[in-house]
Amino acid sequence: MNDCIFCKIARGEIPSRKVYEDDEILAFHDIGPVTPVHFLIIPKLHIPSLAEADLSHQAVLGKMLGLAGRLAREQGLADGFRTIINTGRIGRQEVYHLHVHILGGPEPLGPMVRK
Ligand code: 5GP
Ligand code: ZN
Repeated sequence: MNDCIFCKIARGEIPSRKVYEDDEILAFHDIGPVTPVHFLIIPKLHIPSLAEADLSHQAVLGKMLGLAGRLAREQGLADGFRTIINTGRIGRQEVYHLHVHILGGPEPLGPMVRK
């Protein structure tokens, strides 16, 4: 067992507001939403970041993105959404368990990266 916060969420040791769950994937609302709808899609497998992901993970990586549209629609994001994966120090990743942010709301979001 490890101390990773998202592994603990995946194991049910820390509560979360679930959006979706299956054997390999969990999606849950971000605790600090930055848009009206903001949830995360994670693999249950501990992969620290996209930098450590490789082709041995392709099935679960594909599943995460393959579910994104459906889950976003189910959360009310029928007109689109933004998908972000922060990676490492430069990407300002805070939690080192791979996660995809799904962001959206009724209004278009701001610019992708502020200059
Ligand atoms: P990162 O900066 O690593 O891409 O994003 C980590 C995200 O995880 C942040 O948006 C943060 O609000 C969210 N987060 C951190 N701890 C928790 C938690 O315990 N529960 C939930 N639901 N989200 C969390
Ligand atoms: Zn983890």
